[in-house]
Amino acid sequence: MTYNFNAGPATIPATVMERARGEFIDYANCGYGIIEASHRSAEFEEIIARAEGNVRELTGIGDDFAVLFLQGGASTQFAMIPMNFLPPDRTAAYVDTGLWSGKAVKEARKIGHVAVVAGTADADYDHIPELPAGTVATDAAYLHITTNNTICGTQYQAVPEVPDCVPLFADMSSDILSRPLPFESFDLVYAGAQKNLGPSGVTLVIVCRDLAESGAANLPSMLDYRTHIKGDSLYNTPPTFAIYMMALVTDWICEQGGLSAVAEVNRRKAADIYGCIDHDGFYRGRARTDSRSAMNVCFNLPTAAQEAAFVEAAAASGLIGLKGHRSVGGIRASIYNGMPPAGVNALVDFMQEFRRSQG
Ligand code: PMP
Repeated sequence: MTYNFNAGPATIPATVMERARGEFIDYANCGYGIIEASHRSAEFEEIIARAEGNVRELTGIGDDFAVLFLQGGASTQFAMIPMNFLPPDRTAAYVDTGLWSGKAVKEARKIGHVAVVAGTADADYDHIPELPAGTVATDAAYLHITTNNTICGTQYQAVPEVPDCVPLFADMSSDILSRPLPFESFDLVYAGAQKNLGPSGVTLVIVCRDLAESGAANLPSMLDYRTHIKGDSLYNTPPTFAIYMMALVTDWICEQGGLSAVAEVNRRKAADIYGCIDHDGFYRGRARTDSRSAMNVCFNLPTAAQEAAFVEAAAASGLIGLKGHRSVGGIRASIYNGMPPAGVNALVDFMQEFRRSQG
């Protein structure tokens, strides 16, 4: 048995993989596979409508929000957001909680004025900063946050308070649909699918329709949210197979009982690994306890040599993808929705055994 702890692309629920295999060659007795189907076919129309319906059911958003399936990854959203919503005479507020928020800032600076209103670079990104009242100017074009920081293993435990007049945008690439959130508090949410929602190749965007309408004029069509809203994500050929997989994964989340149910499982999985880390100081958690991520559990061993030995021995036991991001090193266990509790149990057993072996 192999358990895949990679940060993304990542584990997809086993039942989803089996269903996709069953339907691969001949989808719903139509005589061909969905990977071959036209994006204008009745079969694909049903699939994209199902994926959208599932996202709407799980998030509870109303019709005032559009659900889009785009390409270019979260990295394209880093640029598309300021292109649409950062006019030359305004300033956008960003919170810097790690490498990915830093990349979002870098792209926005190419378009307009940016203020990094809070950040934790000085603390090696080991926590999520407080945003006391007054942190975000009431005339900010928007506030951008990264709800889960994939590399340093930190996560917002609650949605920050923002002045009502400032739109709130979130990169949820590594924790989308992993827990209930008041999604209507956000004006725009985006996430590459390859962690919690399926394979790489499709980016989910949830955007307030009125906000999208207010975007800059004369943008290239593909980089204008209005194009994709008007075209129901079919302005050009969408990543059909990735959207099909997202429909299956979101079906699976609904079958589990929705976001509260998956959040409870995710919380227990994370608690089991953090419990092992907190045991006696052999493992050291990277994030401050008040900011720990339930998705990416990052920790260190006493020495880099022990970390390398850990990664190698774990892989030999079928626990793969545990090496931390190259920018920070250490160990990272990514335990998104698709990671079964049995995988986490196997990891915890391995961690205990490894600790014993190191005397
Ligand atoms: N934001 C976060 C929080 C991420 O973890 C990642 C990818 N690991 C990205 C953005 C970049 O996503 P993509 O590769 O889809 O452009």
